[in-house]
Amino acid sequence: MDTRRASGVSRASELSARTASQRLPPTVVNEVDRLLAGRTRDIRLNAELARRFRARSWPQASKIIRAWMIWVVVLDLLTLAVNAGLLPSETVRSMLLPASLLPPAAIVTAIVFLKPRGIWLEGIALHAGVFLILLSVALVGVNTGGEYYERHLTIMLFVAVTAIIIFPVPLEWSIAIAVFALGLYLVFQMQNPAITTENALAGALFFASGVVATVVARRTAGILAHKTFLLELRDRSRLTELTDANSRLELLARTDPLTGIANRRWMMETLSRVWSDEIAQSQGAAILMCDIDHFKQLNDSLGHAEGDRCLVKVSGIIQSSSRDDRDQVARYGGEEFLILLRDANQEDAVSVAERIRRRVEAASLPNPRSSVGAYVTVSIGPAVLDQGGATVSSEGLQRQADEALYEAKKNGRNQVIVYGPSLQVASK
Ligand code: GH3
Ligand code: MG
Ligand code: MG
Repeated sequence: MDTRRASGVSRASELSARTASQRLPPTVVNEVDRLLAGRTRDIRLNAELARRFRARSWPQASKIIRAWMIWVVVLDLLTLAVNAGLLPSETVRSMLLPASLLPPAAIVTAIVFLKPRGIWLEGIALHAGVFLILLSVALVGVNTGGEYYERHLTIMLFVAVTAIIIFPVPLEWSIAIAVFALGLYLVFQMQNPAITTENALAGALFFASGVVATVVARRTAGILAHKTFLLELRDRSRLTELTDANSRLELLARTDPLTGIANRRWMMETLSRVWSDEIAQSQGAAILMCDIDHFKQLNDSLGHAEGDRCLVKVSGIIQSSSRDDRDQVARYGGEEFLILLRDANQEDAVSVAERIRRRVEAASLPNPRSSVGAYVTVSIGPAVLDQGGATVSSEGLQRQADEALYEAKKNGRNQVIVYGPSLQVASK
């Protein structure tokens, strides 16, 4: 019965099924709300949120890292080419060896970031890659000496600053890049024959303040990215809640609260939706109007509550007697049910109707004052729409089924009478 009900009133839950895949676990939703309720600068993602953030931001972050790696390679090669044209060959030769360290380091790092490989491997690759790149730039100057010495150390710092600013990586990684750059600067400047130790220290201090400011800016950008991500998650969870609530409402509006099957409103909507196209192209269709015999007597003799229980049982029997995939059942009115059969000819319609009638009778639900017998029975009026005969409207076919039902009642109840030019008793 549940399966059938699901197939009947399924449209209502389609939306919620669609959003189910996006539903966030309550622990995540609570943590998102907690973080957003606090101060922005206090936002710290827990392990689960960090994992989700990484999954969400990885494609963009890796693209930026790969692009930067390509950029430094191009810069390295371009500088070498320009220098080769302008500088004495001896100077160019001394630049060549340290400069050749950069492209492989950058390319290997870019390759690592082609697909997610786990945070550890990516961390090692990025740290090693950036360190070698910075070392390569610094060594070009150190090896060449003279005016190139300090110039390349400054270029190295510039390269590091661009990496710190644009790499959307964990803060510790940005700090590591800053430490590499300032460390290399200090170590090489201390050995710079052209300047004193004091000058080297003063220069390092000056650049350190700039690099630290860059790291702080990176940290702020990182926190804002986390906040944007949290807002996105909250939007998503609110949307899911709203969609769920809507689906529940829609389901309520289309379900008969007593029997749990579709209600008349849903059936009317279904009929108007499927009639003109689906039904016209189907292999015929039928409408069965099914009404419990002498139900008023049942209520009067056994009470309204027993009447309700009878309605639930009969609706279950109707559902289980109809064909799983093609028939749809709705409670049409008090003790009246409408069954829509698709791809059905008269034989199918009579067969389903007769099965319902027999099973209700066999269920032996008491109706002591019924004139038909001691048990609950139903009368059914099928009206059949032949294949290609969709000139009859759904309302027209319902009227025909009603007429047939009326005949079944008039003819003694507990029977199936098919609508036709001369109404025929199909069974009793
Ligand atoms: P017939 O064989 O001609 O169909 O006779 P009937 O008594 O079944 O039909 P009638 O229309 O005279 O009575 C239908 C009764 O169904 C009257 C109404 O009180 C009862 N009914 C309608 N809805 C419900 C319901 O939800 N629960 C219960 N227990 N009774 C209901
Ligand atoms: Mg009745
Ligand atoms: Mg009735």
